[in-house]
Amino acid sequence: MRALSLLKRYMSNVPWAVWQNGYRWSSSVQKLESNTTLLKHLAYKINATGPISVAEYMREALTNPVSGYYTRNDMLGPDGDFITSPEISQIFGELLGVWCVSEWMAAGKPSVLHLVELGPGRGSLAGDILRVFRQLKSVLGEADVSLHLVEVSPKLSRVQAERLTRDQQQEYDAKEELVYRSGTTHTGLPVCWYRRIEDVPKGFSVFLAHEFFDALPIYKFQRTEKGWREVLVDVDPESPDKLRFVLSHSPTLASATFVQLDEKRQHVEVCPEGGVTIQNLANRIAEDGGAALIADYGHDGIKTDTFRGYKGHQLHNVLEAPGMADLTADVDFGYLRKMAGGQVTCLGPITQQSFLKNMGIDTRMQVLLRSCHDKDTQAQLIHSYDFLTNPKKMGHRFQFFSVLGRGRLAQSKGHQKAGTPPPVAGFTELCRQ
Ligand code: SAH
Repeated sequence: MRALSLLKRYMSNVPWAVWQNGYRWSSSVQKLESNTTLLKHLAYKINATGPISVAEYMREALTNPVSGYYTRNDMLGPDGDFITSPEISQIFGELLGVWCVSEWMAAGKPSVLHLVELGPGRGSLAGDILRVFRQLKSVLGEADVSLHLVEVSPKLSRVQAERLTRDQQQEYDAKEELVYRSGTTHTGLPVCWYRRIEDVPKGFSVFLAHEFFDALPIYKFQRTEKGWREVLVDVDPESPDKLRFVLSHSPTLASATFVQLDEKRQHVEVCPEGGVTIQNLANRIAEDGGAALIADYGHDGIKTDTFRGYKGHQLHNVLEAPGMADLTADVDFGYLRKMAGGQVTCLGPITQQSFLKNMGIDTRMQVLLRSCHDKDTQAQLIHSYDFLTNPKKMGHRFQFFSVLGRGRLAQSKGHQKAGTPPPVAGFTELCRQ
């Protein structure tokens, strides 16, 4: 059964139900109180031991256990700092849910299916996918399905648990516990929370990472007449409560290790944590079977300086008020492909517009529009569709990238001979699937 048939089967039962009062999200987002603790901590450290890497700065600003932006904050939605596709429309998660079932079927319907999401935010994507799984229960049959969430933020994990679980979810205090929260989803599936991907149990898994890789710390390097130099974060000598970028005087361990010998750009950003994460996914997919779908803003190894901050939906100086703003850098999919290695096959990146159209978003829209007679709701539907697919909005800014087992494409030799792309849902034009 192809993705479109799965989508049709799903759609026969599910109307446009989640959209409420014009928004999917509640407007009770808590604003962070002004906080200079992290700035003081970083300035103290830099004064004591010298400038720090951009990666260390970014890690502290985003995930410091006490003052980090993600650790303390629920930042998604109109009252927060940025908005993501799963928060815009239920259709996004529904189509990704169909993708998961489609890849599970292509693997020969293994008896176990782990749905693993990295950085689940407010849990909206997982919630929409669980609804697809419930509707396609007869397709999933007796498969042992479970949900595994990798989330560094205790605060967001609570938001996710409220959204996804029945009331018997448990929280474990001990720092050394691999699972720090567990429960049962509204649809009756077991769900567990982990801090690290390494802690998720092995087994056939579909991994999803939406706007996750862009939050991982990057190093920055500048080509100079003397060779590559690392960009570091220092205290501004003119005003001790401000930070500034400086260039290392000599090569650093990071510049010697992370810049590729054949690098052509003048300035590069490298995300080794992203590299380690993709290697981890690739090893698991090669050993236990499965697939990964990564969606983010990014490029294929061509962009240079993309490090930026967002606060209240506006661009924000990355070095100002650390811990109070989202920091992000475009994902280098070329680097991820290289780090995934030869044991898996990578597809993409392709634009979000192409991916969603290949997954049947137009068909889903037609069904929803036909079944809804309220003019306001129809206008909201069209608005969200435009936001997700318009090349000037999220349609081209976001890219989809997939990691698959090597055997996955070998099944489609006939297609390769015919010169057509392999039938992996989302990466192949709808009529060819
Ligand atoms: N996927 C969601 C949220 C994106 S925001 C959406 O698209 O709406 C990034 C998410 O990744 C947050 O949930 C954040 O807490 C989590 N995160 C950031 N860095 C992380 C890390 N190093 N390990 C685990 N989770 C992380």
